Amino acid sequence: MKRQVVDIIRTGPGERARLDCGHETDADAGTAVGDVLECGGCDRGEMPEGFETYKQTPEFTQDTVPAALQRAHSTKRGVWARIVVAEGRLRYQVESTGLDTVLSPGTVGIVVPEVPHAVTPLGTVRFRVYFYRMPASAGDAADAEPLKPPAPP
Ligand SMILES: [Zn+2]
Repeated sequence: MKRQVVDIIRTGPGERARLDCGHETDADAGTAVGDVLECGGCDRGEMPEGFETYKQTPEFTQDTVPAALQRAHSTKRGVWARIVVAEGRLRYQVESTGLDTVLSPGTVGIVVPEVPHAVTPLGTVRFRVYFYRMPASAGDAADAEPLKPPAPP
């Protein structure tokens, strides 16, 4: 699927583009921030390496799952999620890709940023959603300076 370039990373022989989903891809010399490239990693539903969980929902059951999760909804730019079922079965649908599967303990659902999806309890179920994003420090050069508080006026 199409993703916007947010950074250009110069490697030895070539260039890599970091996309707004968190993936990196090979870039042509003329690629610039703001360009739109195809992202195979998103098409395959692979969460970018190094992403960290920063938020989770309460545990939902078939009785407490919010209606908003059962309608098409999506995460924000750059935010991935994992749907983790502790008990029972949860239908997971992604209309744009045709995905229609059943999540259960051991079968995690991956939520791709900005891609509408919906879940439906199949009988008794308990699950949570964990949200992931790029760590704040990732993407900075290794020699980047740590954040400092602003100097007093
Ligand atoms: Zn991607």
